[in-house]
Amino acid sequence: AKDSGKDCIVFYQPEMSDLATVRLTYESDLRRALRERQLQAYYQPKFDLSQQKIVGFEALARWIHPEKGMISPGVFIPLAEELNMIDQIDAAIMAQAVKDAMSWRQAGYDLVVSVNVSGRELERGDELAQRVEVLLEQYALPPQNLQIEITESVLMELTERVQQALNALRGLGVSVAIDDFGTGYSSLSYLKNLSVDVIKIDQSFVREITRVREDQVIVRAVIAMAESMGLSVLAEGVEAEEQCRFLRKEGCHQIQGYWISRPTPLEETFPLLREYDNL
Ligand code: C2E
Ligand code: CA
Ligand code: CA
Ligand code: CA
Repeated sequence: AKDSGKDCIVFYQPEMSDLATVRLTYESDLRRALRERQLQAYYQPKFDLSQQKIVGFEALARWIHPEKGMISPGVFIPLAEELNMIDQIDAAIMAQAVKDAMSWRQAGYDLVVSVNVSGRELERGDELAQRVEVLLEQYALPPQNLQIEITESVLMELTERVQQALNALRGLGVSVAIDDFGTGYSSLSYLKNLSVDVIKIDQSFVREITRVREDQVIVRAVIAMAESMGLSVLAEGVEAEEQCRFLRKEGCHQIQGYWISRPTPLEETFPLLREYDNL
């Protein structure tokens, strides 16, 4: 199956019944999930190749359904977008991530937590930055400890509002990463007008990087471009040591992937941090 490599089981397959019925069930289930806190942030480490340590975690939403078990975001995020519930989900995960970032700080770790934000939220201009500011104050988290990830496809049509939203975030001191870089089929011209901090190379370029020459050429070019623009580069989906070795040799700054760790609940991040001798 397509998702066999993932850490979640996919439920609610559309072919199981009429799609409309499935959506209805979903909508009320999702509302309940938000109310009853069934949505949980799992954390996947970002490993810095020169410092040789974990420098941050990405928060990834998991729906722990009381009867159906864990549902993958690949299933419920697109539906939540359709049902206009994505903002609430993103807000819930962000609140959890900021709160959890404080428990890392209290344990003595200085880490960046990153959260995924749906493009539609950015279309509303600096509203997001205002909410982020309130949240950071509430938990007394320094803005440098928070990062926002936006998929490249959002930046393809870089409207003034999106630009405004990103500038407002960076104005607070929060950093911005472009997610799934290379999959947007976009012209690179948006990079000229946009202030971002990190480029995340999509895992489709990393998967076969030790064998496929074209992937190697693309990854090299992205690293060179990022370097000359003063951006940091992270490679996603690193599953094996050879991929890690290649990326290190090419000067990639950070990696993320099963090779370091799968996404885990907060409690399991502490043994990981100890394992990588982070303090
Ligand atoms: P993404 O932001 O590109 O996240 C990376 C995905 O790749 C995650 O899938 C992660 O578990 C998976 N992954 C990490 N390392 C490896 C690896 O070495 N090999 C492979 N094969 N996969 C790896 P996940 O957690 O299922 O999330 C899927 C997507 O759902 C995310 O892609 C993101 O776009 C979206 N998502 C997750 N949480 C949220 C959220 O809170 N809000 C929004 N708006 N979107 C979210
Ligand atoms: Ca992401
Ligand atoms: Ca990605
Ligand atoms: Ca993705």
